[in-house]
Amino acid sequence: MMHTCQLCGIDAPTQEVMLHQNIGLLFFRISHSTEGHLCRRCITATFKQYTLVSLTLGWWGVLSLFLTPLFLVTNLIQYLAALNLPPVPDDAGRPRLTDEIRALLAPFNGEIVLCLGRGDPPELIAVALAEQTGVTPAQVLLYIRFEADAEPT
Ligand SMILES: [Zn+2]
Repeated sequence: MMHTCQLCGIDAPTQEVMLHQNIGLLFFRISHSTEGHLCRRCITATFKQYTLVSLTLGWWGVLSLFLTPLFLVTNLIQYLAALNLPPVPDDAGRPRLTDEIRALLAPFNGEIVLCLGRGDPPELIAVALAEQTGVTPAQVLLYIRFEADAEPT
């Protein structure tokens, strides 16, 4: 599970989704999609917007007549699945590294390098270290990306 929303950049649990919107016109159609790991807030907002637009403008055109119900159903399935995500915390923000976080994670530099070296996915390392240190997985990921291998271990 990724921990940074690819739409709003907030530090929160995310789910991978692919949401579609369809606007049908007589001879062509305009579709729009959003794909990526999104937080619950962004999934809800995108789902609502796409559903409203597709429901009102999605029906004109032969292809659209088939595609729009398909999009509506697949969007709904993904939206319902996203309800299992924990809500975005009130104090959620973009993940940022502070000196405090660096100090918490620095003792694990050796371990991080070792895990990366044997091919562990950074996501997994981040989740494990977040549990041990109390920082968020997204902050650990930032640390891994920008700091862990830059310092001597
Ligand atoms: Zn978001």
